[in-house]
Parts: sequence; structure tokens; C-alpha cells
Amino acid sequence: MVKTVAVHELTVPALQRRKASLLSGVRLSPDLVRASYVRQYLTCGKKNCRCRRGFKHGPFFYLVQCLGTGRVRKFLLKTPAQRRQARAGIAAHLKLQRRLAELSEINTELLRRGAV
Ligand SMILES: [Zn+2]
Repeated sequence: MVKTVAVHELTVPALQRRKASLLSGVRLSPDLVRASYVRQYLTCGKKNCRCRRGFKHGPFFYLVQCLGTGRVRKFLLKTPAQRRQARAGIAAHLKLQRRLAELSEINTELLRRGAV
């Protein structure tokens, strides 16, 4: 659940101003990505490798998406450019998600007060 402002503490005009501000500030990033950025250290299959003594290989960076119950898409981000793009896309998605959650909270509160 995304945290939002405490809408019940704001007046109706304040809620409406915040709503207008949210709507005017919404920009859809063309590169947004709904995913997680995961860093992992791994062991390999070699019997006497240093990773067997706790010095794991890595870090490796992955983009991980939940596609539904029990379905996950995961792939290695091989280059620094891919990693930067993934982090920026994920951040853009989270920012939009926070704005949508706050807009929903405001609209719910306005509905509850009968002030729509
Ligand atoms: Zn190894």
C-alpha cells in the first residue's frame, strides 16, 4: 500500500487544491517500468571456488516483474546503461503510483464528505 497524506485532516478547499495540483503535475514517463530492481550475489557450480567459502560472485543486477500468481519475469541487467534506465523507469512508475494513490484518497474523502 502506498502511503499518502492524511486527507481527513484537510479542509475541502485544501483537498480540491491538492487534487488540482496533482492533476496538473501528472506527466506520464515514456520509460516507466512496473518492476523491482534486485541485487544478488551468487554461488557457481565449481567445487573449489571461493564462492563456496562465502565470497560469492557479483553483484548481479536484475529487473524482476510479478506477472500474476506464481509468474515472475526476471532478467539480468548487463550494462550500466540498462541499470540506469531500469532504476529511472521504476522510480517513474513509483512516483506515478504515489500520485494516483493520493488522488484516489482525496476523491474518496471528497465523496465521503459529499463535496465532489
Ligand atoms: Zn564460484
